Amino acid sequence: MEYVSTRGGERVTGARAVVQGIASDGGLFVPASFPQISRADCEGMLGMDYAERAAFLLGKLFDEYNAEELLAACKAAYARFEGGDAAPLVKVENGMYMLELFHGPTCAFKDIALTLLPFLLRKGCDMLGIHETVLILVATSGDTGKAALEGFQDAEGVKIIVFYPDDGVSKMQKLQMGTQDGANVDVVAVKGNFDDCQAAVKRIFASEEYREKFREKHVILSSANSINIGRFAPQIVYYFSAYLDLISSGQIKWDSEVDFVVPTGNFGNILAGYYAKKMGLPVGKLICASNRNNVLTDFIKKGTYDIRRPFYKTMSPSMDIIVSSNLERLIFEVSGRDAALTRERMQSLAETGRYSVRPEELKAIREQFAAGYASEDETVDAIYEFFTEYGYAMDTHTGVAMSIALRYEEKKKKEPGAKLNPLVVLATASPYKFPQAVYYALTGNDVKDSFKGVKRINLITAMKVPESLKAIRYKPVRFKDVISPDKVAERALAFVDM
Ligand SMILES: *Cc1c(COP(=O)(O)O)cnc(C)c1O
Repeated sequence: MEYVSTRGGERVTGARAVVQGIASDGGLFVPASFPQISRADCEGMLGMDYAERAAFLLGKLFDEYNAEELLAACKAAYARFEGGDAAPLVKVENGMYMLELFHGPTCAFKDIALTLLPFLLRKGCDMLGIHETVLILVATSGDTGKAALEGFQDAEGVKIIVFYPDDGVSKMQKLQMGTQDGANVDVVAVKGNFDDCQAAVKRIFASEEYREKFREKHVILSSANSINIGRFAPQIVYYFSAYLDLISSGQIKWDSEVDFVVPTGNFGNILAGYYAKKMGLPVGKLICASNRNNVLTDFIKKGTYDIRRPFYKTMSPSMDIIVSSNLERLIFEVSGRDAALTRERMQSLAETGRYSVRPEELKAIREQFAAGYASEDETVDAIYEFFTEYGYAMDTHTGVAMSIALRYEEKKKKEPGAKLNPLVVLATASPYKFPQAVYYALTGNDVKDSFKGVKRINLITAMKVPESLKAIRYKPVRFKDVISPDKVAERALAFVDM
C-alpha cells in the first residue's frame, strides 16, 4: 500500500509515511486507495481476539511489513491492557453500548495506537535503512503525550520530547507526564493553549532550516500525533472490532448499520470511523461530539471552518482544540481527492483563519456525519444521570459524547419513520484520569486533591482503580520546566545533544 500527501506533493511507502510523520509539502499522508474488507474477511475475524483482528486489518494497510512480526507486535501491545481485551464493548441498555478504549497503560484511548507505533516506526526505519536517531516531537492536549512517552520509553534509536500547554491539562495528566521514566525522554510545559503548542511543533516540521539543523546532528524528526498515519491507522481497528462483537453477541445482523458517537478534538478518532466505513464496514452516522470549543459542530452544520473564535478551557481538556489537524484528511476525500484544492484551503486557513466547502461537499459530509456540542453543565448532567440510571461512571470526555448521544436518540425518536441504529459511544478515558471533575459530576461536591478524588470515586462506583494511576502517587516529579512557545525549537535541539 502506498500513501499520498493530501497536498499532492508526494507518494511514498507505508514505512516512509510512518517514519516521516508528515509529508514534506506540509500535507498529511493518506492511503493511495482504501483496502476493501469483505464479508468473508469479517467472518474470518469473528473468532479472532483483538490483537489478531488488528494484525489482520493493519496488514492490509501496511502490507510491506512482515505479517508474523506485525502479529507479534500487536499481541505484545495489547497484552499491556488490563483485563485482557483492548477494546471491550459494554452493553448499557438496549441499543446503546460503550466501547471502552481506556484500559491501556495510560488510561486513555491513545494507548491503542501508541503501544503499537514504536514497532511500526522501528521496523520502518529498518526497511528504509535509516540509522539516524529518530526524534519524536509531540504536542499534546494531555493524553497523547503520556501515551507516547510510555510507548517510546527507552526505545532503541529513538528520543521523544513532549510539549503540553501549562494550564491546559488536568493535574493527573501533568503528574503522569512529569513522573515519566526513561533515559530518552523530555517533557516540557509551554505557556499558552494547545493550539499554540501544536503550532510551535508544526513550525519545526515545516521549517527546512530546522530540519537541516537536526540532520547535522544525525537526527530525523517524526510525530506521534494522529497526523502520523502510523498513529492514526490502529484506531480503525476498534470500529471493526466493535461491529464484530455486536454480531457475535447476537445484537445485530450482518449488514445492519451501527452509529458511533465520538468525543472529538483533533478529529483523529472519528476520522478512523470514516476510514472503516470506506473500507467496507456498515457504519451509519458518525456523530461528532464537541465541548464548548464547537468549531467542528459549526463546520459540519454550515460548511465553513472558522477558527477566529475564543478558546475555552473545559473539564474535557483533550478536546480543547480549535485547529483540528485531521479534518484535512476528510476535506481531501470529500473534494474528490483534489490535492490542489486541499492545499488552497489549508493556505486560506493559515492566512485568513477560515475556509468553506462547496454545497455538494457539505451535503456529502452531512450524509456521513452528525454533530453536536455539550456545555460544561450538560456534560456534568450526562455523567450524573447515566451513573444514577445505569451505575455506569464515565470520564468527562465520554460525558460530552454521552450528552450528545442522548440528545441524538431523543431527536431521532421524534422523527416520523426514522430508524434508530444501535448506538456505540466511544469511552475514551478512565474516569480516574479526571478525578476532580468526575467526582464533582457524580456528587456535586469538590475535592481538593486528585488522589482523594480517586479514592472517593472508587468508594461510590466500586470501579477498579487502574494500577498505573496508583503507581504515580508517590513518584518524584522529574520534569518541571515551563517555556514560551518561541523557545520550543531551541529546547528540542538542546535535548538531542543531551
Ligand atoms: C485525544 C482525546 C480525545 C479526542 O480525540 P481526537 O482524535 O483528538 O479527536 C477525546 N477524549 C480523550 C480522552 C482524548 O484523550
